[in-house]
Amino acid sequence: MNKTTHFNLNHQIRNLEISKIRQFDDHVSTFEPLIRLTLGQPDFPTPEHVKEAAKKAIDSDYSFYTRTAGDIKLREAASAFAAAKYELSYDPESEIIATVGATEALATTLFTLLNPGDYVLIPSPFFSLYDSLVKMSQATPVYMDTSETGFMVTPDLIEKTIQSLDKTPKAIILNYPNNPTGITWTEAEVKGIALTLSNYPKMLAVSDEIYSELVYDDTHVSLGKHLRDQTIVINGLSKSHAMTGWRLGLIFAPELITFELVKTHQSLVTSASTVTQYAGIEALVNGQDDALPMKAAYKERRRVVMQTLQELNLEVTEPKGAFYIFAALPKGLKMSSYDFCYGFAEGYRVAMIPGDAFGAAGEGYFRISYASSLEDIKTAMVRLTDYVNTLRK
Ligand code: PMP
Repeated sequence: MNKTTHFNLNHQIRNLEISKIRQFDDHVSTFEPLIRLTLGQPDFPTPEHVKEAAKKAIDSDYSFYTRTAGDIKLREAASAFAAAKYELSYDPESEIIATVGATEALATTLFTLLNPGDYVLIPSPFFSLYDSLVKMSQATPVYMDTSETGFMVTPDLIEKTIQSLDKTPKAIILNYPNNPTGITWTEAEVKGIALTLSNYPKMLAVSDEIYSELVYDDTHVSLGKHLRDQTIVINGLSKSHAMTGWRLGLIFAPELITFELVKTHQSLVTSASTVTQYAGIEALVNGQDDALPMKAAYKERRRVVMQTLQELNLEVTEPKGAFYIFAALPKGLKMSSYDFCYGFAEGYRVAMIPGDAFGAAGEGYFRISYASSLEDIKTAMVRLTDYVNTLRK
């Protein structure tokens, strides 16, 4: 789409690319019926008790703005949840903000942190929102290619990247469990990163932990536990409680940073939806284990996808969290990720996301989201086998 207006609109915005995921989705949307393994959202309904709490909030006329940072009961619930699950300690009054999804949490955070010209480290492949928000802030993204380190962000990689720059970056954006790779980190790995970053006390870590409740065999370890003073933890209920459309995110940050974040949050949205916040209180207080049944289902789907990819001998690291698998294109195939995925959608009616939608380091890979029914996934895997075998002939 190359439409443009003659008005001199904001340069940063004009230069932003429409998300490649969206572009790909638009491109293949005429291939109906289409099995979509593209979606970044749970295919489960929101838990009943959470829906009931929202209905009750509506009937009780909870239809007014809450306090800017969110209803204090929600922030207390978020504080208790983070303490119980991740051993985090954040004061509900001064260190937590309820936002409009993790998206607004990230926007509020990056707009508050960044001055024009600041460097921001972004491990690549990455969730494309990071790139857009950094550019909207007139800061400069510095991509760190993780394809050589098994998609791990290592202390060495961070150190080397910082040393290659002419000034210390303002921030690093971390995301684990990761979209698109499903990689997550052990406590030792989190500690290693924390230690490295502590050598750069003026740097901040924006730690997007939205998939923290979807870690399969371990428990999630937050960077906020090991690097509290330099970390802004991003989380929310979209994935943990299957609430993407409700739009509820959370920021956990040290008091002096939160003080500034609240100003940005207020200017952008005033406050998160009141009814949604009441649903959120219920989810955090009485739904601490709501992710468990979903996790069990995702785990079975992951097994099915992994089995097919391994049988096809495609290079892939088993994801330990979130609901994505990032696999390499068949070796020796002279084809872009885009063409590989487009050909699959066109010929076999299954959509997956080409890896370059997650930055240049993702070229040569494709992302499968297994937030789809097991039945669709099984059908898709039979077709993928056929497709890859045909390409190899
Ligand atoms: N971070 C990551 C890594 C994501 O994958 C997503 C959603 N796809 C978000 C943030 C945004 O979450 P929300 O829907 O709560 O805004």
